[in-house]
Amino acid sequence: MGESVKDPVCGKEVHSDEFSAVFLGIEYGFCSVACRDRFRALPHLYAALRGQRSPRQRGLQVLRRWRLSLAAELSSGQGARVTEALETLPGIRTVCVRGNQIEIVCDLLQVAPGQIEVRLAEVGARLGAGWAERLRQGLEDCAEYGEAADRDLRPSG
Ligand SMILES: [Zn+2]
Repeated sequence: MGESVKDPVCGKEVHSDEFSAVFLGIEYGFCSVACRDRFRALPHLYAALRGQRSPRQRGLQVLRRWRLSLAAELSSGQGARVTEALETLPGIRTVCVRGNQIEIVCDLLQVAPGQIEVRLAEVGARLGAGWAERLRQGLEDCAEYGEAADRDLRPSG
């Protein structure tokens, strides 16, 4: 223990085994709880499997499109606030709000689903009048939420 390993999420060299996780019998070291949590949520994006380099190692984007249907329509002002809040996160490619629909395209290698959830909860709380609950419900009902599939892999840049 204490040997130098590469954090599979951010690529930093790490010496400590303070933050570690085991995936398919292999132990990985991380620079932080944040990197470890991202790995644990979607390990197949970061860990090499069966001798194949991971999407992260190949420098790919893992694009995921989420479409949320809300119980009520957002006004254009509310839509702009939601869009603005989401666009400050890294890895968000597009946000489109139309009526009661929010479509988000993001790179899962740069933004964790939990970060989107937290940001939506924050903006929902600021919008008031039941919006925190509507956004939460919209995320929960979103069929593709949190999934990542090979069809979403795209060359980066
Ligand atoms: Zn890290």
